[in-house]
Formats: sequence, C-alpha cells, structure tokens
Amino acid sequence: MTIKSILMKALRLTNGYPINTFLGGKGIILCFHRIVEHTSLHNSILEITLPALQRLVNQLQANNFEIISIEEIKGRLASKNSKKFAVLTFDDGYVDNYTYALPFFIQNNLPFTIYISNSMPNNTALIWWYALEDVVRKNKHIVFMYRQNKQQYSIHSLEEEKNAFSSIRNLILSLSSAEKELFLTYFFNLFGINIQAYSKHFSLTWEQIKILSKNNLVTIGAHTKNHLALSRIDSTEVYSEIFESKIELEDMLSMPVNHFAYPFGSVNEVNMATIIQVEAIGFTTAVTTVGGNLFAEHAGLLHSLPRFLVCELTSKFFLNIMLNGTYAYINNGFKLLKSF
Ligand SMILES: [Zn+2]
Repeated sequence: MTIKSILMKALRLTNGYPINTFLGGKGIILCFHRIVEHTSLHNSILEITLPALQRLVNQLQANNFEIISIEEIKGRLASKNSKKFAVLTFDDGYVDNYTYALPFFIQNNLPFTIYISNSMPNNTALIWWYALEDVVRKNKHIVFMYRQNKQQYSIHSLEEEKNAFSSIRNLILSLSSAEKELFLTYFFNLFGINIQAYSKHFSLTWEQIKILSKNNLVTIGAHTKNHLALSRIDSTEVYSEIFESKIELEDMLSMPVNHFAYPFGSVNEVNMATIIQVEAIGFTTAVTTVGGNLFAEHAGLLHSLPRFLVCELTSKFFLNIMLNGTYAYINNGFKLLKSF
C-alpha cells in the first residue's frame, strides 16, 4: 500500500476533515463543462445535473467559501482578506451553459466564467465523443478500417461497451488534426451520422454568447480557436490559436477578453513557453486543469493557475478534500505549488 493510498483511507475515515487547514490556501477554482438533465454513461466526467450543482454550491457556502468572479482573483490573491473564495468556470462553450447555467447563476446571484473555444460558435468543432457514445450504445457490431487495418468490436455487455468506447476514443485522440476530420467523417458515416451536422446541436451560438456577455454575472474567457493540444503544435500556430481566439471574441462581443483557459490543461499540454506567450498576448489570468489550491504565491503565477475538474461524480468527500487542500497536496507529491 502506498503512502498516498494510506492517507486517502485515513481521510475517508474523517470524511475529509479537518477543513480549512493551511493546505487549503486562499481559495480554489473549479472547472465544469456541461449541465445536463441526465448524465451519460461514457462522458459523465463532463457533466453535472442542476441538483448536484446546487449541492456543490451549498457545500462551498457551508464551508464559508465566497463565490467570486475570475475578475476579482488577482486582487484577492494579493490582498490580506482571509475569507476563502471559489471561482466557478465552464470550459468549451456548450449550449447548456446558456440554457441551464445562466438561469441557475442568476437565480443564485453568483458569478461564473465561460471559456469559449471559437470552434464551438463557428460550428467547426466536431463533438465526436458524444457521437461515439451513441454508436457504442446502439450497435452490437462495429467494423471499420483504420490506417489500412480492419478494426472490429462486438458489444454484448456493458463491459464490452466501455472497452469499445475507450479503445476507439484513444484511437481518435492519437490522430493528427489533419487526419482527424477525414477519419471522423468516414467513421460516423458508417453509422448514418453526419458528424458536422450532429456537432452543431452542442455549441453555444454567437447570439447566445453575446447575451451571456452582457450579463454582469458572466465573464467570457478565451479557450483557443480550435481546442488543440498546444504542446503538439509549433509555436507560430500556438500564437495564432491563442491570439486570434481573443481578437475574434473581442470583435464579436465588443469588449475586452482578459482571461484564458488552456485546452486540456494538464502538464502534458501546458508548458513554460506557452505560459509566456499567454502572458505576452495580454491576458490577466490563465487557468490549467492541474488540481491545486490557490496561495498568495499565485499572485505571481497568474498565467498557470491550478483548477479542479468537478462533475456529477464528485462526491461530498472529494469536494471536502479539495477545499481543505489535502487532495492536491497528496497528488502533487506533498508540495503546495506545482511548477511547469
Ligand atoms: Zn476544453
């Protein structure tokens, strides 16, 4: 048994308490993607229902976390204010951020941020992970060609369905962006799905983003033009992915866009060179998906802020150990700050 697993076991015995230890720092940033009526089987990591979101907000408030806007984070990190804070953010630009998130946050009078990948409102994003979910749910036999090799899957149990989903998903993730669109068009056509038309139903429109941006509770941030893993493309392309996403959002919304989220956002996609570019382009803050709590030191690390991914599956226990800092401390090798 590893030290990590022993500590996690000990924390479970106390349901993650004591809360508000020094490991928790000044606050946290949470990352959501979609709000849904019913969670899916294979993409639930991207989803939360309104009742679960309400429970999560209640838990934050019961632990005396003040929910603040990303605009306030720079000042709060530098200030002596000891009240803990949480910033709630949504990535990518799913349509439910308009249909469900906006009414929820208005009703609760709480601020939130949406990081938009321009490919969503421009209808060039291919939402293949949901189309793939439909394919593995509805087909008992999946046969296709991949790089001149015949691939076959038989699905007669939940386990086989999960295996097929994750295996085809990994295959798609390994494709270069040039190969991806061709492959996705071919693959989904086999099952009667026009992936371009299918994907449009998931995205916010520019009209909806404009309405969101005019609400005082909403901050619109940038999330690159095409949502590529920035570590896999050359630095000129990285620059245009980031810079042009900011310019197009600012043109469409007639307001400055000062906050950025790295696509995927783990240590595999975010590096020092990209962090420097994001700062040079003029963003005030940039968030990763490396889990961590925020400390005064982050006032000097505003372009690589840690953030916790949360979804329907995030239990009360896990939120507790995120809030009190023990989860990140154990996962980041017993360090408070993670470096890139
Ligand atoms: Zn994203």
